[in-house]
Amino acid sequence: MKDQLQYLTRLQEIDEQIDSHERDLARLPQEVQEIARNLVTLRREISEHKERLAEIEKDLRAKERDLETEQDKIKRSERRLLGIKNQKEYNALSRQVKLGKKVAGEIEDAVLAFMTEMESIRKTLEKKEKDYAAYEQGLHEKKAEEEKVTKAAQAALEALGAERAAVAEFVDRDYIKKYQTVRKVLGKALAEINNGSCSECNMAVPPQLNIRILKQEEIISCPNCQRILYVKPENIPAFNKIDQ
Ligand SMILES: [Zn+2]
Repeated sequence: MKDQLQYLTRLQEIDEQIDSHERDLARLPQEVQEIARNLVTLRREISEHKERLAEIEKDLRAKERDLETEQDKIKRSERRLLGIKNQKEYNALSRQVKLGKKVAGEIEDAVLAFMTEMESIRKTLEKKEKDYAAYEQGLHEKKAEEEKVTKAAQAALEALGAERAAVAEFVDRDYIKKYQTVRKVLGKALAEINNGSCSECNMAVPPQLNIRILKQEEIISCPNCQRILYVKPENIPAFNKIDQ
């Protein structure tokens, strides 16, 4: 029976390693996908910003042309003003010049606003392009890691699978069945007994049961969590060892 418990303990160690490798195998493709998703988002944002930049640039050129036209008009009017003798005509043209300057001022404000926005978009673009390069590098590294870990995990899983089958050969079918059932429900089928308590659920087992566990003559489950209880050889009191 002592052997059975030792084999079951080994089985649990192997299963924990198998679980860990399988978690790696599942985790890394998810991490790769996550980075790839970020790259797609960034690429879309970059292209949106570039489109916006081109749009503003077009608007800016148009405004600059408007400004030039307006300024030409003002200059022409100002020249004409010098030659006008009629007061009424002079006042009318003078008002026109004043209005023209107001319009030109508004266009200048718009030009300035476009330039400010372009500068801000350029800065954002610069940052996003840097992020993109970093993510691209990250994706490259993560893919390399995935490949390396997958290879190692597959090799380890193959070896562990073979060892598991070999160990399981030595365990009574009923115990294997119980082990599998508890493992399926609780994730861990075996619990070490430590100072009279189950190490998984922390409940103290009755002293009589504890004595039976220490004797290692039968498979005993924790009355609280149903895990199979075992004791490490170094935790078996000396008198129990003499007993055997
Ligand atoms: Zn327990």
